[in-house]
Amino acid sequence: MAVSAKRLVLATRNLDKVREMRQVLADVGWEVLSLEQFPGAPEVLEDGTTIEANAIKKALAIAQHTGLVALADDTGLEVAALGGAPGVCSSRYAGPAATYAENVRKLLRDLDGVPEEQRTARFRCVIAIAEGERVETVEGVCEGRITTAPRGNGGFGYDPVFLVPELGLTFAEMPLEQKNALSHRGKALREAKALLATWQTHEQRG
Ligand code: IMP
Repeated sequence: MAVSAKRLVLATRNLDKVREMRQVLADVGWEVLSLEQFPGAPEVLEDGTTIEANAIKKALAIAQHTGLVALADDTGLEVAALGGAPGVCSSRYAGPAATYAENVRKLLRDLDGVPEEQRTARFRCVIAIAEGERVETVEGVCEGRITTAPRGNGGFGYDPVFLVPELGLTFAEMPLEQKNALSHRGKALREAKALLATWQTHEQRG
């Protein structure tokens, strides 16, 4: 008798994140669905004061809407010379509807004149996994440095200015697999896979 795969829905409309998530989750052993398959899913307002709160809010809302296990990511770029900003405001750093390029431009402007050794930054990604009322979180962190000008055409968001110093490459200069091997999201997703390996779904429990 065929055993049906457990089903997981990615609680994000950001196709750049979906691409990275699908690569790491390719061998998770769950059927991975995306929000495009749930056209009536609610838009979740990211109004939490922490990335943890936003990840939890998104995962719970989508789990409750779909009745499935939902996985949500919230990510912040924390720049030491800016006191940890943009942090939880990373997506709207240059304004409520800011584009990736506008956020990058503002970041470079705000760091104008800051010397290389003081341009340290870290990406922090929290992934929340929810089903019904249950929610668990995992985290991934990646340390790096902000360049003085964008470099590379891959990735998304702040990737062209986020340098991995050991390699001398920005995330935008790496193929997807290499970014995932090193990145905050890749690390959090591998933690998430370990959590999913022990997850007993409502469907299984009947
Ligand atoms: P959020 O998790 O959607 O709130 O992401 C916040 C913002 O951080 C996004 O708008 C992106 O600009 C940026 N961001 C999130 N993840 C990454 C990443 O992996 N690389 C570069 N920028 C990212």
